[in-house]
Amino acid sequence: MKYISTRGQAPALNFEEALLTGLASDGGLYVPESLPTFSAEEIGSMAGLNYSQLAHKIITPFVGECIPEDDLKAILRETYAEFRHDAVAPMIQLGHNQWVLELFHGPTLAFKDFALQLLGRLLDYVLERKHQKVVIMGATSGDTGSAAIEGCKRCKNIDIFILHPHDRVSDVQRKQMTTVVGSNIHNLAVQGNFDDCQAMVKTSFNKRDFLPKDRRLVAVNSINWARIMAQIVYYFYAAVALGAPGRSVAFSVPTGNFGDIFAGYLASQMGLPIERLIIATNRNDVLHRVMSNGSYGRQPLEHSLSPSMDITVSSNFERLLFDLYERDGASIAQLMADFDQGDISFSQQAMAKASALFSSQCVNDAETCAQMAATWKDCEYMLDPHSAIGVKAAFDAKVPASVPVVTLATAHPAKFPGAVKAAKLDTEPSLPHHLRDLFDRPERFEVLPNDLSAVQAFMLKNVNA
Ligand SMILES: *Cc1c(COP(=O)(O)O)cnc(C)c1O
Repeated sequence: MKYISTRGQAPALNFEEALLTGLASDGGLYVPESLPTFSAEEIGSMAGLNYSQLAHKIITPFVGECIPEDDLKAILRETYAEFRHDAVAPMIQLGHNQWVLELFHGPTLAFKDFALQLLGRLLDYVLERKHQKVVIMGATSGDTGSAAIEGCKRCKNIDIFILHPHDRVSDVQRKQMTTVVGSNIHNLAVQGNFDDCQAMVKTSFNKRDFLPKDRRLVAVNSINWARIMAQIVYYFYAAVALGAPGRSVAFSVPTGNFGDIFAGYLASQMGLPIERLIIATNRNDVLHRVMSNGSYGRQPLEHSLSPSMDITVSSNFERLLFDLYERDGASIAQLMADFDQGDISFSQQAMAKASALFSSQCVNDAETCAQMAATWKDCEYMLDPHSAIGVKAAFDAKVPASVPVVTLATAHPAKFPGAVKAAKLDTEPSLPHHLRDLFDRPERFEVLPNDLSAVQAFMLKNVNA
């Protein structure tokens, strides 16, 4: 399997190289050159598989010759053994044809564990074989940082540096990062805001010479192809449980950077009968505006009750655009260059293709709280604010009555106690057992000034030999 850039000018890579490469050298994102497909018969035969067996079936064609079958199987078994629920991604029912796929049973209580638990292990595996070590650098306003740290904590060949804005992430989210112990884990509390942190990461990736020559800098945000790949699996898992391939299924996905829902798009291209993919956004609604009128434009960031979806530009949308524009890298390069100058519009053909599979809805904070309260009242089921946005969009979606709608529950409500309070459920979410003592654990982080050279000097000093 080869991976190509959405902007058409970077070299094609194999899986191992794609794993170690973030953004392509032409500024594009890597996507598979062609997708594997599964026949109805093959999808039918997935029915009896457990999660890691299914993951092996779906992921094998993407990895190709890069990892021997038995090793990949072992990696996947270990990855999903970390999850606290035997089903890994259990489903519960909220209404006649309404389902919730719980993706928060991993170590950090958000769906990002599905990808980052695997990514850490895959990286360590290929690095061990190549006798190489790398440095991971990332900025986080919440869920990504803790999931990346948990995913890499046992990796011998990785030093991980996660920047977060000092005093500006929630207590639960900070504790989930700073209480993980390991000499290769480095939490940097930067005296600035999230944008400052992200700008430092971006600059460091553009000019990597502050690190020793033998250390590559690796990205763990959702531009990394392996993260998208891992997320395809649970679309198959849920749909097969609900009767695919005999019956098609719709998915409602709380969306920020378009990574999670893009995996659903790939599942449909691979043969899974998906009736509809519902893009559920908070009031940072760049994707809802695109779907409504084809125009793609930046608007100021608004802080919402669903902070993990507070974004102004959806980086993975470029991967979909590449297909909508007949995989013409030159068109995408031109569109993105225009977007650097201001708002852009997409062609009618492109939007018609998108509308055949996708619809969208924007849900504000008041509606989010109302949905959390309604679901609590009707089912005594507590939604986190991100998942509530998905559920609201699922209930409002116009899909045929015979089609089950599955909302991806992307986080556990205990990660967002403030939102639960705002929704007035008359109860408080409690942390699962393995995190009950989270607030008693010692924290380890370094407070650094909002200054790139200080951050880079700290990193250089702390890269393990
Ligand atoms: C990251 C995140 C999202 C958004 O996922 P994307 O892949 O960026 O669309 C939604 N909900 C939660 C809880 C998240 O952590």
